[in-house]
Amino acid sequence: MNNELATLSWPAVEKRISQKTIIIPVGSTEQHGPNGLIGTDHLIAGALAKALGDETGILVAPTMAYGMSHHHLAFPGTASLRPETLIMMTTDIISSFARNGFSRFFFVNGHGGNVSSMSAAFSQILTDSPNLRIQLASWWLLPEVTAREKEVFGSENGFHATCGEVAVTWYLFPQAQTPIAPGVAPDPKTEWPVGPERFRMLYPDGRMGSNPALSTGEIGAELFAIAKAALVTKLSDFLKMDQSGV
Ligand SMILES: [Zn+2]
Repeated sequence: MNNELATLSWPAVEKRISQKTIIIPVGSTEQHGPNGLIGTDHLIAGALAKALGDETGILVAPTMAYGMSHHHLAFPGTASLRPETLIMMTTDIISSFARNGFSRFFFVNGHGGNVSSMSAAFSQILTDSPNLRIQLASWWLLPEVTAREKEVFGSENGFHATCGEVAVTWYLFPQAQTPIAPGVAPDPKTEWPVGPERFRMLYPDGRMGSNPALSTGEIGAELFAIAKAALVTKLSDFLKMDQSGV
């Protein structure tokens, strides 16, 4: 069954509104270090959401490919939404789908910078529309993923342009693999948040404490499968909780 909203007609979508649930991938368009892909966060979120839809038969909305990435703006290729823009975009997308009849929103998130703005949007939406239910699942924070990353990469996984996310892109886009000299990027941990110019001064090549020379497509495939399985469980728990009326 095709679960991708973008390639369905409206009558086909209408037949599936009784499902109530829609999966929405969200990421960013931002630098990911000297050999990481600009689209890393939205490409991974989109691929995981598609896999989740295929596994569960739930509709998947088009990916929100831009996010709140202000701190990366000093690097070419980064395009960022202001926090208020992301709040409004999230609100408008949810309220549009809610008007269609969807009431359960499962976001697959690929970017940490989105969390505060999206959570702010959710707080308001859930206050205004108490019948809606929302779950934000950030794939790299799933305990199953972090446990395996720790085993494979240790502390060299880092915090941005991580070994794990670079590895998953090598699995999804093997033709885009670019080697990088081994070495852990600086992670001065002096302050957070920082503005774009300060970020580039503190993290000159865009990575934060990572050594993506350790990334391989094979490990990426494994992490993708772990994340997908964990998301299937998380979505199922989310919908079960709904049935229990809690
Ligand atoms: Zn990322």
